[in-house]
Amino acid sequence: MEFSVFNMLYTHTCGQLNVNDVGKEVILCGWVASRRDHGKLIFIDIRDRYGITQVVFIPQDSGQAYKKAQDLRSEFVIKLKGIVNPRPAGTVNPRLGTGQIEVTAKELEILNPSLTPPFEITEDLEVSEEARLKYRYLDLRRKKIFNNFILRHNLYRLIRAFLNQQGFIECETPILTKSTPEGARDYLVPCRMNPGAFYALPQSPQLFKQILMVSGIEKYYQLAKCFRDEDLRADRQPEFTQLDLEMSFINEEDVFSLTENLFQLIFKEIKGIEVKIPFPRIKFSEAQAKFASDKPDLRKELATDFAFVWVVDFPLFKYNQEEKRWESEHHPFTAPAAEDLDKIEAAPDKARGRCYDLVLNGMELGSGSIRIHNSELQERIFKVIGINKEEQAKRFGFLLEAFGFGAPPHGGVAFGLDRLLAVLAGEASIREVITFPKTSAGFCPLTGAPSEVDDRQLRELGLAVKKKK
Ligand code: ASP
Repeated sequence: MEFSVFNMLYTHTCGQLNVNDVGKEVILCGWVASRRDHGKLIFIDIRDRYGITQVVFIPQDSGQAYKKAQDLRSEFVIKLKGIVNPRPAGTVNPRLGTGQIEVTAKELEILNPSLTPPFEITEDLEVSEEARLKYRYLDLRRKKIFNNFILRHNLYRLIRAFLNQQGFIECETPILTKSTPEGARDYLVPCRMNPGAFYALPQSPQLFKQILMVSGIEKYYQLAKCFRDEDLRADRQPEFTQLDLEMSFINEEDVFSLTENLFQLIFKEIKGIEVKIPFPRIKFSEAQAKFASDKPDLRKELATDFAFVWVVDFPLFKYNQEEKRWESEHHPFTAPAAEDLDKIEAAPDKARGRCYDLVLNGMELGSGSIRIHNSELQERIFKVIGINKEEQAKRFGFLLEAFGFGAPPHGGVAFGLDRLLAVLAGEASIREVITFPKTSAGFCPLTGAPSEVDDRQLRELGLAVKKKK
């Protein structure tokens, strides 16, 4: 780093020193990663986010520090002053960046002791996931997990830089809002000022991003938190992050080109892999016929590591057998194909939507559509899926009204960033790329959420909880 505004308590990080520093007096801060007593010598490894440095305490050179070092245990936080020395021949560790030197300690300050950790902070840790998540702050001290968050940070930087350069504006949309249907249940938040009324947490920023188009933002993006109360599956989180995009005065080709260039950049910068663009496209019906799936895995056996494909030409509606009604294949804001407008009521099964999914290795990475921007057409769609006029006004009146004030043609897409990160990090589970994830049962082992609340809070909210017998 060329310019730093910081002084810091240390002179060097624990990953910084090498043979060029021999002879320097340095100050290091970090955690005790290990302690070994060799006869009269005490060795410790000191760890911070940058790396590990070996420190040696020698009775005659280290003075008081030597005595204090006898009290050191794993995960104590310490600050020490010492002299950088080359390691004696035969003790060089080529696997460590700092493996050619060690620091002979002269002063030691214990900044904070630590309880005995419930598991050792090692890379090849064999401990239950529940324990790892309960002590996530210790788990995050492991390089492998920590690196996943550096990866997320770098991904966000890339995405922002690319989209900013393409003229996008990053906007936030409300978290306390009204239901935005994406096919899941809402998480509801009661409201003290209006007992009996509830906010819904957004399943996606869909309606707000469309309204931002009406406002003239033209190109919007957000790294958006979304909340969906879905039946739990192994790799699902009740809250997740998506890259949410919307643009005006565009068509499908613009969304494809933007996405392909963005993903090409991401894979090049992060994985050093050149993915070929444009991505192939496959019709929904063809994917069903050939792969019996709308998420085809186009990897040819070990030839390609990353096979992207657009699935296009989806039906606009699907029939819900249980409830005996039509519902939207994507969401009700998807525009019908121009040539299928007359099929909406007459033959809903034949109408196609202007929507697309991006699939990577058989996994849905994102989905989007060109939207309806006209209230009459939007009302027709609502009607087919069984939302009557009154209900439309109650749930989506604000959107229909906004469409009346010069809504431009628009469309967009959203990509699940947790899944993308798991792929980029080579992790099997998205929990590995989320700082404080919940278990597959929706429980947070660290905080114990969700948990009961005080009777007083319930009274203020005008709520009563039916106790299970
Ligand atoms: N709102 C959609 C979703 O969250 C994405 C989109 O249509 O842009 O899946």
